[in-house]
Amino acid sequence: MTWCIRHIDNVKGFGLFSTENISSGSVILEEDPIISCQFSWNKLYKYRACDYCMKSLETTEEMCKRLAQNPGLKLPHHECCESKPVTYVHCQKCEEIYCSMDCREKAYNEFHKTLCPSSDLSDRNALEVLDETWRGFHYPPETASIQMIIRILARIKQEEKKEEFISDIEKFCHASRNDVEQIAHKLLGEQFLVQLTTLREQLSSVLFDESVQHWFTDDGFKNLFALLGTNQQGVGTSALSVWVHNCDELDLNPKDREELDNLIDGLYEELENVAGTFLNCEGAGLYRIQSKCNHSCEPNAEVCFPHNNHRLAVKACKDIAAGEEITISYLSECQIARGRYSRQQFLKENYLFHCCCSKCLEQTDDPDVTTDEESSSDMED
Ligand SMILES: [Zn+2]
Ligand SMILES: [Zn+2]
Ligand SMILES: [Zn+2]
Repeated sequence: MTWCIRHIDNVKGFGLFSTENISSGSVILEEDPIISCQFSWNKLYKYRACDYCMKSLETTEEMCKRLAQNPGLKLPHHECCESKPVTYVHCQKCEEIYCSMDCREKAYNEFHKTLCPSSDLSDRNALEVLDETWRGFHYPPETASIQMIIRILARIKQEEKKEEFISDIEKFCHASRNDVEQIAHKLLGEQFLVQLTTLREQLSSVLFDESVQHWFTDDGFKNLFALLGTNQQGVGTSALSVWVHNCDELDLNPKDREELDNLIDGLYEELENVAGTFLNCEGAGLYRIQSKCNHSCEPNAEVCFPHNNHRLAVKACKDIAAGEEITISYLSECQIARGRYSRQQFLKENYLFHCCCSKCLEQTDDPDVTTDEESSSDMED
């Protein structure tokens, strides 16, 4: 193992540290989530994914046809596509689809036994109403999902080691009352108090569980929301990116290579023109180790999903010396390019901490303005 988890201090909590020199580009660790789910809108928009591991189930060609709204679209090198519809299986009792028998079994044993429409353990209709309510509150771009809470509760009902699982989940939670309000507000907007009450009532009518009755109180439910808001990692899977990666590895003569590269560039352009930037099956997951990895505005590692499913990898993007803290960025590419004040504001609002990374410290003397103000004052100059 090239890393370890260490307690830093009472403000920062834990962090991930390298135990030997790690070279840029190498995979530091891989891990599966405690629980994951596809976002509700993403699923509704027919981004087909395995209901357990979120593997995107379309072949690359099917996916491109749909996203480009071009039924005649054809792709070369089918051998580079790793989506293999022959291995897909449905739940034995409903329409839910999985990439493999293994995923079907895991889903059933963890939560689907409770959530399957054929089960009388929960009310399918009420679950659908709940998902609709959620979508009504939380439009794309999605950053969270009620499905995560639904799965956690279903799992608690099915889990043999119930106490252990609950404590695993609750270990994530450290927010104060004010912070919790702020996060819920951020996720749901102005009407969040009314919306939270609606969601909580609908949820407890289907999945109330005595062992976590404290989650169903006003404060407890907000806490659960804050826990997910601050700890979940976005997951994006795509048959296309695996196909492109495999195409890059092909041994081609220079002319064929150029043609293929041009075709791929053209394809991305076509997809982005029609579908915008929403190309992936998107969702979220809770990860034990990755959640201990602190943010830096100048990170030395990055999170990726190299297997077209929810299995996450932390990959070094710089050389990391033995003993150095391993950091990732919680910001999007566009956010991280902003000034120090904008970045710190976003991190404070969404992740409840004041960033003191090396880059923020270097820029301490930059004025406290958001990027919008920066650019408007630029224009006045
Ligand atoms: Zn799967
Ligand atoms: Zn089922
Ligand atoms: Zn920073």
